[in-house]
Amino acid sequence: MIMWACLLILIILLSAYFRFSLIRWSLFLAGGLLAFHLFSDADSSAKYWLWAIFAVIVLPLNFKEFRLNLFSKNIYQAMKKIMPTISQTEQEALDAGDVWWEAELFSGDPDFKMIKDMPIPKLTQEEQEFLDGPVEEFCAMLDDWQITHVDYDLSPEAWQFAKDNRFFAMIIPKQYGGLDYSAYCHSQVVMKIGSRSGSAAVTVMVPNSLGPGKLLMTYGTDDQKDYYLPRLADGTDIPCFGLTGPDAGSDAGAMPDEGVVCYGSYEGKDNVLGIRLNWKKRYITLAPVATLLGIAFKLNDPEHLLSDEEERGITLVLIKRDTEGVEIGHRHFPVNQAFMNGPIIGKDVFVPIESVIGGIDYVGKGWAMLMECLGDGRAISLPALGVAAGKTASKYTGAYARIRQQFHTPIGYFEGVEEVLTEIAGQTYAMDAARLLVLGALDQGEVPSVVSGIVKQQLMERMRKVINHSMDIHGGHGICMGPHNHLARAYQLIPVGITVEGANILTRTMIIFGQGAMRSHPFLLKEVEAVHNENTEQGIKDFDKAFFGHMGFIVSNVVRSFWFGISFAKFEKSPGDENTRYYYQQLIKMSSAFALMSDICVGVLGGTLKRREKISGRLADALSNMYIMTAVLKHYEDQGSQKEDLALLRWACEDALMNIQTALKDITKNLPVPVVGALCNFIIFPLTKPYQKPNDSLGRHVARKILQPGKTLDRLCEGIFFSKDKNDATGRISHAFSLVLKADKLQHKIRAAYKQGRLKNRDRKAFSEAKESNIITETEYQLLIETDEAIQHAIKVDEFSFDGWDIKTP
Ligand SMILES: Cc1cc2nc3c(=O)[nH]c(=O)nc-3n(C[C@H](O)[C@H](O)[C@H](O)COP(=O)(O)OP(=O)(O)OC[C@H]3O[C@@H](n4cnc5c(N)ncnc54)[C@H](O)[C@@H]3O)c2cc1C
Repeated sequence: MIMWACLLILIILLSAYFRFSLIRWSLFLAGGLLAFHLFSDADSSAKYWLWAIFAVIVLPLNFKEFRLNLFSKNIYQAMKKIMPTISQTEQEALDAGDVWWEAELFSGDPDFKMIKDMPIPKLTQEEQEFLDGPVEEFCAMLDDWQITHVDYDLSPEAWQFAKDNRFFAMIIPKQYGGLDYSAYCHSQVVMKIGSRSGSAAVTVMVPNSLGPGKLLMTYGTDDQKDYYLPRLADGTDIPCFGLTGPDAGSDAGAMPDEGVVCYGSYEGKDNVLGIRLNWKKRYITLAPVATLLGIAFKLNDPEHLLSDEEERGITLVLIKRDTEGVEIGHRHFPVNQAFMNGPIIGKDVFVPIESVIGGIDYVGKGWAMLMECLGDGRAISLPALGVAAGKTASKYTGAYARIRQQFHTPIGYFEGVEEVLTEIAGQTYAMDAARLLVLGALDQGEVPSVVSGIVKQQLMERMRKVINHSMDIHGGHGICMGPHNHLARAYQLIPVGITVEGANILTRTMIIFGQGAMRSHPFLLKEVEAVHNENTEQGIKDFDKAFFGHMGFIVSNVVRSFWFGISFAKFEKSPGDENTRYYYQQLIKMSSAFALMSDICVGVLGGTLKRREKISGRLADALSNMYIMTAVLKHYEDQGSQKEDLALLRWACEDALMNIQTALKDITKNLPVPVVGALCNFIIFPLTKPYQKPNDSLGRHVARKILQPGKTLDRLCEGIFFSKDKNDATGRISHAFSLVLKADKLQHKIRAAYKQGRLKNRDRKAFSEAKESNIITETEYQLLIETDEAIQHAIKVDEFSFDGWDIKTP
């Protein structure tokens, strides 16, 4: 009897695990019952009871009409009453961009073929030459201290160089005079410049991301493209885009800025059909120097000059700087950065209707246009800046921790510092991987809007971590500002990255899961659309299909999650080799758990989930870390599965798993129905906490990757600017680092001699004594002196005169 019960349960569990369709599952179950009926010696009443249950519950589910009338219709009616409607703004956000890898993560059973098939990002010869030539030259021209402290602007030469070399035209097609570079190249350019000067990187990134350029290319009329794109490409026009205002920050759609359709005079002509605009924008990057403004506002047509509709919605226009009524030129001063940023005010500005981006057909479609165009930029610009910070921190903090000695020991060898170095290296590896994966998608023509939000939010948070750690390790050297400080401006740039292009708190708690669940969940959006379908009959049919699919999906995820929980997903078929297979399996396991947890949260919280941002933020953390883990595995393989990089791969995967576990466990602890939370915790983590923080020994291996030169360090820091100037803020650290490594054996020799009592002194004081005692040769002595001087030079901080801020050192 027990054997038969097990068999029937096994049939149910296997059907759920393999996600059989309802009909297939019913047939299997019927087969099992038949076998039970024919071959078991159980009581016949038990057999008939089981057939009765099958006939009452399972069988009707397989008859569509019956199911529709009995179940689906009633559930549909109940849902219609409680399900909140989707506003037009939300719908436009949902429609923007493509559903991509996040849908696989929501599926609970991700198919890695999509990721495996993605080509490794590569530069064309022209792109490589651009990076090695003009970009390198531009970086060498940049003096960040001069820019941010003395001139509060890029030098006129740097501006001109950027224009002449079409830095502002990386996304503009060649036919209009642009460079038309790949997303990968675009990111490499911003990253390299970002490793030299944040202000210069922001200046270059803005026209290439959200600016009139991208909007014009996507929606512009032929006349608009023909006129403006060549001017933007050669720098004749400097663009900016104004969306944010004093009353509309994160909730940009709530802008009070208004335009009214009317007739007016324009450039000497009367009776021109156009728009009279009033707006107040602030924080607009490049505005103080912009010659071409993109402005978002709400359009009204009270006299019905365009159509019968009065309120036409958010519309985007192009306005020339010198148009009457435009007030522009003042500057904000964002945390000691010198990129141009300021307010723009428009008072009764009149522009012809042809100024609407895309022409009259795109009146009122501004929000959808912005949503569509924001995605790419968000995935490219700031993430490139974040990775630049990570790579620079890895390169120079590792080197600094090696050359800076305290207690007669390089500070990087103290466990406390090593712990922090580990995170710098590990996070940089994860950040770079996350950047490269989304760039690969963009270059394949995808616009993954949820993933672009993930990459922006995660990389800015991780940038905050690595720069903070880097500051700690540099101590006073990072704090005292001046031309030789390579870190403090990056530190000050953190809040800019956190705030712009979707402030991080909002992106994490509202956008990533909110948008992700609706777009990527296999059934949720279908159910919502069905419920809101005006054709009720069709709505019920669609709802029935989605709802029963959804129920099967939940059951499957319960079974899979529990099985993975007790088996550690060890038997799950997955890609990977002996080093990576475990991580692929854990990713599948966590995807299943995440899919289950998402459904539980939606089921328990319903429409209130929108307001339960602590829950949706944790769901976003789980989703984001699964994306990062995917990216890390892909990155490791794309780089040829180098064994010496294994420590970085393991650290980044274990960190991601730990983050996912923390996020999911915290949700189970905070669900409003505690018993449901406890049950989910038991299903997903039956053996308590399977994941731990990367251990100390792994951490040491990771930290050592940036404390010493090597191919891993080269790969980790690939793409940033390296200065060979021994007086440069970073060049002097590299120089001292290379000498310290060269003199390492000699230092050991001197230390050993001191310990053996052959030398009375240690460190610097011992050099001449060691030479005189023939412990080292004259040449070796010279090397030690040279190294010591290089270290002294590298650790110096700037000093200023008391009254005039004249630089006195180094
Ligand atoms: C240096 C800089 C450059 C910029 N460049 C441009 C530009 O070129 N063009 C342009 O149009 N705009 C630009 N912006 C504006 C930028 O996009 C906004 O600053 C941003 O949208 C946030 O608006 P806010 O600063 O008014 O913050 P607020 O909207 O007041 O938000 C404050 C905090 O509350 C959080 N928050 C708000 N609502 C929610 C919510 N529902 N749930 C959770 N958290 C929430 C936010 O995450 C943030 O942490 C720039 C801003 C800066 C600082």
